[in-house]
Amino acid sequence: MDLTNQTFGQLTVQRRATRDAHRNQRWLCVCTCGNTSTVPTTRLTSGRTQSCGCLRKKNPGRPPQNTPQDTPKQDPLNPTKPTKRKFTPPKTRRL
Ligand SMILES: [Zn+2]
Repeated sequence: MDLTNQTFGQLTVQRRATRDAHRNQRWLCVCTCGNTSTVPTTRLTSGRTQSCGCLRKKNPGRPPQNTPQDTPKQDPLNPTKPTKRKFTPPKTRRL
C-alpha cells in the first residue's frame, strides 16, 4: 500500500518512513500547521490520526450535545436545512 501524497485530515503523506517495533509501515506526514509526524498506516487509514496532534489540543474530545452555542436555533414549524459544518483546515500557520 502506497499512501504517498494522500491526505488524511490535516496530514499529507510525504514519504515512507521506517517501520515501528511491530513492523507496521509508517509514513512521514506533514500537518497543515507545519509540523511533521510519523504515523503508522493503520492510524491513517482508520482515520484515527488526522493531525500531528495540534487538532487534539484545540478540540479536546467531543463537545457535549447540549452546548447552547452549538445548537442552531430552528423553528419547528419551519425547519431549515441542517447546517453541516465542514471542517476547513486553518490557513494561518502557528508554530
Ligand atoms: Zn499540526
